[in-house]
Amino acid sequence: MTCVAKLAMTSRHLHNTVMDQLVDKNTALDALRETVGSRGWLDTTEDLEGYVTEWRGLWRGQCDMVISPASTQEMSRVVAICADAKLPITPQSGNTGLVGGGVPHGGIVISTRRMSTVRAIDTVNNTISVEAGCILADIQIAADHAERLFPLSLAAEGSCRIGGNLSTNAGGIQVLRYGNARDLVLGLEVVLPDGRIWDGMTGLRKNNTGYDLKHLFIGAEGTLGVITAAVLKLFPKPKRRATAIVGARNVDNTLELFTRAQSDLGDMLSAFEYANQFSMEQVFKYSEGMNNPLSEVYPAYAFLELSNLRSDNSAQARLEETLAGALEDNIILDAALAQSEAQAKAFWSLREAIPEAQGHAGASIKHDVSVPISKVAEFIHHACELVTAELPGIRPSTFGHFGDGNIHFNLSQPEGMAPAEFLAKWNHFNKLVHDYVASLNGSFSAEHGIGELKIKDVERYNNSVGIDVMQTIKRALDPTNIMNPGKVLPDS
Ligand SMILES: Cc1cc2nc3c(=O)[nH]c(=O)nc-3n(C[C@H](O)[C@H](O)[C@H](O)COP(=O)(O)OP(=O)(O)OC[C@H]3O[C@@H](n4cnc5c(N)ncnc54)[C@H](O)[C@@H]3O)c2cc1C
Repeated sequence: MTCVAKLAMTSRHLHNTVMDQLVDKNTALDALRETVGSRGWLDTTEDLEGYVTEWRGLWRGQCDMVISPASTQEMSRVVAICADAKLPITPQSGNTGLVGGGVPHGGIVISTRRMSTVRAIDTVNNTISVEAGCILADIQIAADHAERLFPLSLAAEGSCRIGGNLSTNAGGIQVLRYGNARDLVLGLEVVLPDGRIWDGMTGLRKNNTGYDLKHLFIGAEGTLGVITAAVLKLFPKPKRRATAIVGARNVDNTLELFTRAQSDLGDMLSAFEYANQFSMEQVFKYSEGMNNPLSEVYPAYAFLELSNLRSDNSAQARLEETLAGALEDNIILDAALAQSEAQAKAFWSLREAIPEAQGHAGASIKHDVSVPISKVAEFIHHACELVTAELPGIRPSTFGHFGDGNIHFNLSQPEGMAPAEFLAKWNHFNKLVHDYVASLNGSFSAEHGIGELKIKDVERYNNSVGIDVMQTIKRALDPTNIMNPGKVLPDS
């Protein structure tokens, strides 16, 4: 056979293989349409737009179709079809994630939006069983109607869905008292990458029957399966809360106040958040209707909340007492206690407005890090020195979940600098900050996850044995790598 004839055969073979794959893919897409019915799929460019774009426009991907199963059985069939056709799946819930984890690069998006039923509430067992597409705020409301509290709370709660919250092990403002999403789960239901359903929907508080599989899927960002339902813990509903905003001289004093508040107030202290002067100045300047409740602007701010199961004024009184003592001992400079529920909400709006207000200062390089609580002040001081030495005029907006040791260390560009020139330094500043965090035994990703943004950091900061174990688990559950490929783990 001549070379030319051989080449012609090879190219025909390649052409046939590509055609076979296309036929397979189109057959699979048809089977998916049929499985979920006309209300369960979208495929026009216009309809796909919201699913292929990260909400801030930082990432843009593409997919062939969005599939929204209406039940666990449908989800199982959908995933089995994709497994057969080796069609990549990107699970998506509210698409509010901050690390690009829900952005597809080919294949299909599986949306949980049509699985939004609260299956059961048990007020004796203190549990709520929900489908993965329930919006977080709706779960809070359902718990509230049953005179219970579901404590997971974050600024995106009106649009994020519990499947996404669990897949990112979300944190928020009440971790201090109630823990992360992981701590709030008793049972889980997951469709595995081959389409099988793992039913772990137990509401048991004790269950030592082998590996605790639910923890594999929580925080896995959709790389090991699709979470379809969960049994969540409920708590007694606080009857009253006391909320305060505090001004301090510096972050060391804020840490001193935190330690004192913890020992004075114990479990009643449900939130302790922090913001630096620059963060709050941006809010006062740019967020509509948000004024400084304190008499002047301070270098450091703290937001405290106490939850009380009693309907009397004792939480208010105890918070007042703690803050009065701190003022007297010169630990803090000023404080305002909310006098009504509306005022408490207004205080929290100030805290929640920070990320948006920071946008008005131009381009921003972000870090979501954690260090031991005892090191938070040291971290903020030294990290600010490091970045300022590197680029004079840089403006750190430091804020976040102080009581969990989780600081959002965001850097606004120097005034007058071109945004693109500043953003070109993203990796450089990430390395500078994350190296320092690592030296304090901290984490480069405290609550937002890895997605596609931080895979390089997984390689740099996680030890090789840990990465190897994760890759082994991934290969065992998802040998053809169809579940959210390119996210969380470096390729093995
Ligand atoms: C204003 C604002 C404030 C925020 N504050 C916080 C905060 O305080 N604390 C915090 O932790 N986060 C915060 N976030 C980030 C984000 O809201 C959380 O990560 C949230 O938990 C994501 O939920 P989602 O439903 O939007 O998930 P998505 O963005 O849709 O998905 C997130 C990841 O989970 C995967 N996934 C989604 N659903 C499933 C499923 N059913 N099964 C398997 N995998 C799935 C996706 O593939 C993706 O990798 C904030 C975001 C915004 C916009």
